[in-house]
Amino acid sequence: MRIARFSIDGNVAFGVVEGDASTEGGPVLDIIKGHPFAEFERSGQKIPLSKVRLLPPVLPNKVVAVGRNYAEHAAELGNAIVDDQGRPEAPITFFKPSTAVIGPGDAIAYPSFSSEVHHEAELAVVIGRMCREVPRERVKDVILGYTCANDVTARDVQEREKQWARAKGFDTSCPLGPWVETELDPSDLGIMCTVNGQQRQLGRTSDMVRSIEDLIVHITEAMTLLPGDVVLTGTPAGVGPLNVGDEVAVTIEGIGTLTNKVIKRG
Ligand code: ZN
Repeated sequence: MRIARFSIDGNVAFGVVEGDASTEGGPVLDIIKGHPFAEFERSGQKIPLSKVRLLPPVLPNKVVAVGRNYAEHAAELGNAIVDDQGRPEAPITFFKPSTAVIGPGDAIAYPSFSSEVHHEAELAVVIGRMCREVPRERVKDVILGYTCANDVTARDVQEREKQWARAKGFDTSCPLGPWVETELDPSDLGIMCTVNGQQRQLGRTSDMVRSIEDLIVHITEAMTLLPGDVVLTGTPAGVGPLNVGDEVAVTIEGIGTLTNKVIKRG
């Protein structure tokens, strides 16, 4: 099931996406009565997807991200993922603030303090229930579903500053969407990033160094995750610069495409 959050006539609602581009008349949204994190039902009241504005599919309290979770990407930035004894290093975790989140079609505003902003296509895990110290075998129970993310990064600032809060947390640096897919095996999905239609990143989630189970266990060992919180799972190789005027698209097999334009910060 694909759950979208959208606005129509100034109201915000959730709906289940039915059909796709090949459906006659295009896909529609069946408006949800209730809330996707609790009991809900489909109202049967349907609107064409083309008539609404999609919003970020969730409003996370926090976005927890991991660095260097695809070996080829770690290598392209000159980072080892094993220590000098050959042992795997603990995953690097960082936050993107809730204020960084934007939705499909929203603009990425190029920050004034950077001259090298990169795209990072990532599979995003959407948490469905409050949880902490989640044992590996319970991880699937705390996940609502999956969406596409772009971990937009001011690479020059990331290299210059020890903490990544500004480099990865500036406003508009966390596009999410287009919806949450709740029935998906995330273990081997194609993940792609294009800029102005040209392919930049191409990978498979099966190449993650640490699995989604590993990441949720690791994160919830430290902190409580809330419904709507998002975990970003790292980016495959091929990261590169974005410029004002570019259109960047993240596509994940079985989910869909998240598209955003880059504008000058006003
Ligand atoms: Zn990333």
